[in-house]
Amino acid sequence: MKILIGECKQEVSSFNPVASHYTDFDVVWGQALLDIHRDLNTEVGGALRVLGARPGVVLAPTYSARARVSGGTLTRTGYARLRRELLAAVAAALPVDGVYLSLHGAMAVEDEDDPEGDLLDAVRELVGEAVPMVVSLDLHGVLTPRMVAASDVIVAYHTYPHVDFATTGERAARVLLRLLAREVQPVTAVVPIPALVRGNELITATGLFGRMIHMAQAGETAPGGVSGGMFIGNPFTDVADLRSNSFVVTDGDAARATREAVEMAAVFWAVRERLQAPFVSLAEAVATAKTTAGTVILTDAADATSSGASGDSNLIVRGLLEGGYGGRVLAPVVDPEAVQAALAAGIGATVETTVGGRLDPARFAPLPIRARVHLLSDGQYISESSGAACSAGPSAVLIADNVTWVVTSLPVGLYDRSLFYAHGQEPRRFDAIVVKSPHCQPQFFDAWAACDLNVDVPGATSANLRTLGHRRCARPIFPLDRDVTFTPQAQVFRRARG
Ligand SMILES: [Zn+2]
Repeated sequence: MKILIGECKQEVSSFNPVASHYTDFDVVWGQALLDIHRDLNTEVGGALRVLGARPGVVLAPTYSARARVSGGTLTRTGYARLRRELLAAVAAALPVDGVYLSLHGAMAVEDEDDPEGDLLDAVRELVGEAVPMVVSLDLHGVLTPRMVAASDVIVAYHTYPHVDFATTGERAARVLLRLLAREVQPVTAVVPIPALVRGNELITATGLFGRMIHMAQAGETAPGGVSGGMFIGNPFTDVADLRSNSFVVTDGDAARATREAVEMAAVFWAVRERLQAPFVSLAEAVATAKTTAGTVILTDAADATSSGASGDSNLIVRGLLEGGYGGRVLAPVVDPEAVQAALAAGIGATVETTVGGRLDPARFAPLPIRARVHLLSDGQYISESSGAACSAGPSAVLIADNVTWVVTSLPVGLYDRSLFYAHGQEPRRFDAIVVKSPHCQPQFFDAWAACDLNVDVPGATSANLRTLGHRRCARPIFPLDRDVTFTPQAQVFRRARG
């Protein structure tokens, strides 16, 4: 049995004015796809372990394109090149007996709202109607009818913050093997839910959202179950099909798939008001920081690079300075020009420049600083979360009075401490830290910090969803519109196969 493996992953915030390009992706072909994933906690890594252990399976690795970090909407030309390369690699691998594709689900292109649906349609056309195709997605994916119709089975993450990358790939690979053995005839029920959600209750280990995931897992692992989960969409990917979805795949039992998907959707809808982020105002956060002993985490989820924001907000630091805060502050910011100014000045020199406010000028303004250049780097480091190589581009540590800025040329994921450690900064030595990620695994900050304040400041990934200005997603939708009504109704998908 020859199984094709491919990957194309990116998460986009339509509200980030900085477009994404082909060059923002790490792209590999063929055997290199296996090499980068083997032994990693990734979907493809997990799938390889299951498929590699099955006698008689031959792997056909084709193409992998992974965005290094989330960003703004992908350009038309960038997407066209990714699409062309993926399809050429798929065509070269034919014929195959089965397909596993690892996608994210929250890509968006200038002129294509549903690039994953487009890719799956195109791959389906190449491999033919009879070849089983299983697709894994992030639960922040925007699930579309086109994606479901083109594939045989969808498999979704079951954890947030995400830790089940490899097990998601393992689940997808096991389903694919069952399809190849003709053990199951999948039927999928999807319930579109007009709601967008954020906040602490989405943490699956501790929050309300975990209940729906448990329902999905119970269905998936029961006899006759195939797959199930919830897609909450990425609220910042403002495309026509943006909404939440419950889905259940069973072995031929449309009534059961429908019943379980409707139940999950009903529970989700009933608690939607609690699936929103609690905020504190910037003034309140500054006041709390001033009176708190121990390190205060100031969460800037609105400028979360891992959700697609530009990373160049300086609003929280500005608020601290204007509020007369005297503690030691650690803050990351994307600002290639400030880095260039630091490089030109050299280590130990004093530089007068500005930080932030260049990439998303409608929301942020450059903040003038007079700083000592403490450290310069090429921005290459290893993630403490995943062990993967990260690239922030040329970077600098600038110390301006009580504020230590870690300034990068490129956005990087800020859901752990890797960038700080890579630049010689021990977070525990600071009184206030700006963390540009909605949630981090607790050991990175929350487990030892005095408190974590979710600060309500503007940004392309603000959890204060009404402030973003959605224009494309179907309305009405909670919480953007008031008095939204909802009766769960399933759409059933079943692929005809000879
Ligand atoms: Zn996600």
